[in-house]
Amino acid sequence: MVRTSEWLQIDMGDDHAHLPVIVVDSQERGPTVVVTANVHGDESSGVVAVHALDKWLQDNLLAGRVVLYPSLNPRGLALNTRRVPHDGADLNRAFPGGSGGAASQRLAAAIWQSLDGWGLDVLVDLHTDSAGSIPYSIVDRAVALKGDARRILDAKLVELAENSGLTVLLEYPDDLYVRFGLDRSLAGAVVNRFARPALTIEAGPRGVVDWDAVGVMQQALRGVLGGLGLIEHGVVVSDTRVDSPKGHWRRSTTARTRRAGVFVPSLRAGDTFRPGVVLGVVRDLAGQPLDEVRAQSPGVVVSWVDSCWIEAGQVVGTVGIMEDA
Ligand SMILES: [Zn+2]
Repeated sequence: MVRTSEWLQIDMGDDHAHLPVIVVDSQERGPTVVVTANVHGDESSGVVAVHALDKWLQDNLLAGRVVLYPSLNPRGLALNTRRVPHDGADLNRAFPGGSGGAASQRLAAAIWQSLDGWGLDVLVDLHTDSAGSIPYSIVDRAVALKGDARRILDAKLVELAENSGLTVLLEYPDDLYVRFGLDRSLAGAVVNRFARPALTIEAGPRGVVDWDAVGVMQQALRGVLGGLGLIEHGVVVSDTRVDSPKGHWRRSTTARTRRAGVFVPSLRAGDTFRPGVVLGVVRDLAGQPLDEVRAQSPGVVVSWVDSCWIEAGQVVGTVGIMEDA
């Protein structure tokens, strides 16, 4: 086993970003897996999870190599804010970036160039969601691929997500996936531009290092790396995992309010529901009910938004609906 580390220095206009890149190489044949975290600056549990993975791999990596990027947005981490502070852009909609553009575009381009240099086989990107969420794995849409190429990659994406042991959530349908710029997320760009499998893991809340979430990420990463043959490790099914009765859950935007107000969920993350069930109630600040959010199809609550106040028309959380629903 050989461990090396370097720093990427990226010109951001006013200053430079310094991103650590760590390589743990077994010096045996096997895949190259990249693990990234903190593309959203306030999602800090992944930073700690990557550090822990680095240490653990030094005694446990048997094949291939793992390339670790503990923070893709160090200034965002320092300010505990989601976006790239220099220009307020969401880095996770900026890939593959552009060299002459805004700071976030330069950052994305430099990260992309660095990733391209590894000839990576798989990428896993660590995120956090909200205080009211269960951990989950997101399956991207290979919208740029067609026919057999897409079917083969789709199957690999689902297998990766299954190996995390977490609840599996397929992304929005193709048209919404593209409209929301998700093919320009880090995982989405790896899937659609490198045609390589990538996985997004979401665990725990934003803004803090949540030690339970760090543990969940460790377990999920070991399941994924074990499935790829880099370590000896089986899949550990999380006790938070919720299976769809049919196919997989698909991310949906259907849980929205018609009125602005205080949103009070009726269910907890991880609860399943039938059509017509009240997911939550919107009240005014005096406590009077204004609206109910009802389920339109069978599904599962994955997360509720962190904010108490919800604007009219706003999505109140992430729900998964049955794939064919
Ligand atoms: Zn995120």
